[in-house]
Amino acid sequence: MSEKNDILLIGAGLAGPLLARFLALRNYRVKILERRPDIRKTEMNAGRSINLALSKRGLHALEQVNTHKQVMAEAIPMKGRLMHALDGTTSFHRYGQDDTEVIFSVPRRELNKLLMNAAEETGKVEILFNEICIDSDLDKCSVYHKNQDTGKTTETYANQIIATDGSASVIRRKMGKLEGYKEKTEPLSHGYKELTIPANEDGSFKLEPNVLHIWPRGNYMLIALPNSDGTFTCTLFFPMEGTPSFASLDITDKVTHFFSKEFPDAISYLKNLEEEFFLNETGKLGTVKSWPWNVEDRFLLMGDAAHAIVPFFGQGINAGFEDCTVLNECFDEYGDNWGKVFESFGKQRKPDTDAIAQMALENYIEMRSDTADPRFLMKKEIEFALERRFPNRFIPRYSMVAFHRIPYNECLRRGSIQASILDILCSEINSIDDMDWERAKKMIRDALKKSVS
Ligand SMILES: Cc1cc2nc3c(=O)[nH]c(=O)nc-3n(C[C@H](O)[C@H](O)[C@H](O)COP(=O)(O)OP(=O)(O)OC[C@H]3O[C@@H](n4cnc5c(N)ncnc54)[C@H](O)[C@@H]3O)c2cc1C
Repeated sequence: MSEKNDILLIGAGLAGPLLARFLALRNYRVKILERRPDIRKTEMNAGRSINLALSKRGLHALEQVNTHKQVMAEAIPMKGRLMHALDGTTSFHRYGQDDTEVIFSVPRRELNKLLMNAAEETGKVEILFNEICIDSDLDKCSVYHKNQDTGKTTETYANQIIATDGSASVIRRKMGKLEGYKEKTEPLSHGYKELTIPANEDGSFKLEPNVLHIWPRGNYMLIALPNSDGTFTCTLFFPMEGTPSFASLDITDKVTHFFSKEFPDAISYLKNLEEEFFLNETGKLGTVKSWPWNVEDRFLLMGDAAHAIVPFFGQGINAGFEDCTVLNECFDEYGDNWGKVFESFGKQRKPDTDAIAQMALENYIEMRSDTADPRFLMKKEIEFALERRFPNRFIPRYSMVAFHRIPYNECLRRGSIQASILDILCSEINSIDDMDWERAKKMIRDALKKSVS
């Protein structure tokens, strides 16, 4: 059986339905093939993490297609990191200058449902569930998909096929067979496990809700993000092998002993620790780099299918949603010239997604190391002070990534210049009171000539 559609998307995770809405609002007819059942009708898990952090780039894309208000209704603002030291003391580190610079904890499942509804309500998007894409014909512009209930295989043709089928994309795998195609998957030696801190009996939170909690322990860390039902989803980022590791914590007693020793204040909140530890899957993490992302005007990779990253900057889907913004701008420029749209999208986006891949890996080290170090804290304080004195010129790297839409590649470039300036300025001082602001001004003017916003 064969059909012809305007545009076919593979994968109704997060990027797929948002892209479908963008395309529908440009008057295209879109069909999405999704291998899972409809999560709006089942209790099934919506994907890899229970909740995720949305920031400026993701919110901007949602805003462009009028879906941000519904998303924000589910979102909990997080103003900064609350660090939990081994001795139980806590310290708060703001993400931005004030309460306008915050990130948002959003439930993945609700976000996914809402985006599917938003795509379908255009009247131009149809999502077919239980349809797993098993192969594609890159010349004919078709995919083969199998219905998970009936086992029936169908070949569907389309004018364009866009793969939003996540980090293990079947379309990317097929493109990997083309001559000159480059793909690199770099698995991280650390994985993750999700655990739950339940709500109090009255539904209130057991911990401060408007922060991202971190228990940094050098080579690994536990984090917790709030959910609107009063629970927290905790994630242990931890080595897969060695001691300690997911492999070494193989019996209940070892898990209890390890958590009591390393996270003594958290263990009292993790009511079902041992059960969840062995029941919940250990997730793998890694970076995917591939190039090119398109096959002429027929196929395109987007979101994690093109550029999966590790989650330590909270930017994976922010980058995936920003893909939609950028693709939309390419349509503004090249209209229906799909070849040009796909090519210019990839060329523009690739340096940026490579940059956020690098910054995400770097951020793991910052998050898991003990940032109670006074020199680290002094540098953070000075960074914010420099931003107030030189707005749009010196912006802390985290802020450029999370609170601005400055291209990621530019965030990486300016961030590295700023880090050098900061190293020099801080090398001989022990307090912000000793800062040589005139010297700072000259260095910033010389090295960061262009302002950004
Ligand atoms: C632990 C963890 C925490 C994270 N936290 C954050 C965060 O705080 N902020 C952030 O921005 N990002 C975060 N991310 C990253 C984010 O989850 C991903 O970037 C995002 O899910 C990618 O969206 P996507 O739509 O491209 O792919 P996915 O969400 O993976 O969706 C792919 C969809 O395609 C479907 N599919 C797959 N194969 C097929 C097939 N063969 N046929 C048909 N359908 C198929 C899948 O069922 C799925 O629905 C996190 C990731 C992890 C693992």
